[in-house]
Amino acid sequence: MTYSVLMGTLFANGRFKNRTKSGTIFRVVDKQGSFCKITTRFAKYAVGLSRKDLKILVGLLTGHNTLNQHLTLLKIEEDPMCRLCGEEYDISVHLLGRCSVLVEKRRKQFGKHLLFPSELRQEHWSSLLKFAKNSKRFK
Ligand SMILES: [Zn+2]
Repeated sequence: MTYSVLMGTLFANGRFKNRTKSGTIFRVVDKQGSFCKITTRFAKYAVGLSRKDLKILVGLLTGHNTLNQHLTLLKIEEDPMCRLCGEEYDISVHLLGRCSVLVEKRRKQFGKHLLFPSELRQEHWSSLLKFAKNSKRFK
């Protein structure tokens, strides 16, 4: 995926925000509100990823992924709830910050049991990608 295709994908699924010295900022919107802003610096990091990792990262940020909420929208799955805990909708914000089954993994990586969207927003994409891969929810 080239830089322009990545930015186009993110632009199509997010909302244009504004331009700063560090580049254009996009805000990706999830069901529970935005949790990540995208600068050109971060986008350049993403372009350096393997195709597999980039697919996971873009899925995390846009919501177009293999989590149950999205698969239910596509009529591939019938239950939008989390496959691990069954307590909340299976979306990126839940997986990264709230899933009770991943509490110990989250504590080991981030030093906290739960992460609010405002805290997820502070994390580098590499951390979010590492946690998502560690959850084994993406193939
Ligand atoms: Zn869960």
